[in-house]
Amino acid sequence: MTDVPHYEMYIAGRWRGAEESFEVRSPARNELIATVATGDLAAVEEAVAAAKAAHETGVWRSKTPQQRADILDAIADNMAARIDELSALQVNENGATVRSASTFLVGYSIAHLKYFANLARTYVFEATGPLIDVPVLGAGLIRKEPVGVCAGIAPWNFPLLLAVWKIGPALAAGNTIVVKPDSQTPLTLLELARAADESGLPAGVLNVVTGPGSVVGARLAEHPDVRKVAFTGSTEVGKTVMRAAADNVKKVTLELGGKGANIVLDDADLDLAVDGSLFAFLLMSGQACESGTRLLVHESIHDEFVDRLVARAKTIKLGDPMNPATDIGPLISEKQKERVEKYIALGQETGCKIAYQGSVPTEADLAEGHWVAPVIFTGATNDMRIAREEIFGPVLVIIRYSDDDEAVTIANDSEYGLSAGVWSTNNERALGIARRLDSGTVWINDWHMVNAMYPFGGVKQSGIGRELGPDALNEYVEPKFVHIDMTNDRARRAYAVVVSAPADVSAS
Ligand code: NAD
Repeated sequence: MTDVPHYEMYIAGRWRGAEESFEVRSPARNELIATVATGDLAAVEEAVAAAKAAHETGVWRSKTPQQRADILDAIADNMAARIDELSALQVNENGATVRSASTFLVGYSIAHLKYFANLARTYVFEATGPLIDVPVLGAGLIRKEPVGVCAGIAPWNFPLLLAVWKIGPALAAGNTIVVKPDSQTPLTLLELARAADESGLPAGVLNVVTGPGSVVGARLAEHPDVRKVAFTGSTEVGKTVMRAAADNVKKVTLELGGKGANIVLDDADLDLAVDGSLFAFLLMSGQACESGTRLLVHESIHDEFVDRLVARAKTIKLGDPMNPATDIGPLISEKQKERVEKYIALGQETGCKIAYQGSVPTEADLAEGHWVAPVIFTGATNDMRIAREEIFGPVLVIIRYSDDDEAVTIANDSEYGLSAGVWSTNNERALGIARRLDSGTVWINDWHMVNAMYPFGGVKQSGIGRELGPDALNEYVEPKFVHIDMTNDRARRAYAVVVSAPADVSAS
């Protein structure tokens, strides 16, 4: 079709083409960077069948956790050897800046895969439980067995990382998996599949099917042979995934939207809080589910804080994401740009003041990119739509409050509960507030510090289940209880409740 690279799907350990293909374009220039095979229902069937066969033959689950870990490590090492190439690909497919791609988007992906390899080595897959002595002496085993065929549906904002958060624990636990990337950002995940192929992962253990969410994603969510689905994306699609999963009672993990409340107390270190608050809402141009997008500032420091925030915001450089001097890049698509612009217009219509609006790049070669300059709104109240709905762009909404109780009430007055933060020079006071926040994560004097060793996930409509940490692996295993009798003594068993012994019968 063109001279850009063409990517095929990865199914049953082979690259598989399709009659149709779709385009992947760079968000900064809207340039065609690759074409990709369009998967259909037949491709999903093949991938699920391959994953099911690999599960049933035991080619993966019967390896020792150490052997599985070694292969996961090899995949991570393969990607680490190509980190510059993968980071550039990530920049091209989703508009992340090269600085954030090499650290957060690709760097974390490699590190987190290694974390799951280590977790496989240390996780207790089989253990004896407490001694059983009722009614007779017995031993109990608890085995954590793989669920079977898993499906992962990944979004476009952190395409490789959020796929790794599904692939890592699924494979560490001995499952097989079919993963579907977003059609805007399938390339880095297909490169992970290439790394897996080169690292000796058995065929069928990892399969990648590219194609429309409404076809490929929807079928994976309802497929009777898929026993677990993990989804990251919008709350709306997450609900349809959960409904579809009900048909065969799949296990479900959902990572959905957020409207992170970022609380600046009156005793905060303002230099730290100003820079941290910009970081909180501008990483990935605000297209991160755990961004700090509602900034709650104590009234006694509000005006000074806003002045300092605006002064620092003026130094943020929008531009070519491949340029290491660039701070933030474009939005993913024209659709996302229009969505964010509607919210900016809505904020103005509802009476908020724009305290700051940046400017978009003027270079001719970036003219076709999906640019939205950062906007900081003041004068907002928590009942406004711009304070309640996920905008997913570089838009910050500042709300004034008068005491700690009011800050907690405002923060918790949301259908979301993914992330929150508190800025204070008094850790005890900040921790007291952190304990009261309805949120899966709370950062004190920081933001975006997602850590592989700790659980990540949301409360309320931000999701179900946890990714990362040992909790992530718990989502991919079925605990099995094995009872072993230790007496061999029939007389003292519970059988008599139903099955009287011949002696008992003759006595009656
Ligand atoms: P989306 O929810 O439509 O897409 C996420 C993934 O789900 C993609 O892989 C997509 O192909 C797939 N999908 C789409 N329809 C599906 C279906 N019926 N069944 C199964 N899978 C399906 O997200 P979007 O439309 O690209 O973005 C819209 C909004 O979602 C954003 O503005 C943002 O608010 C939110 N979002 C959140 C996250 C997050 O990290 N929580 C990520 C992306 C988008």
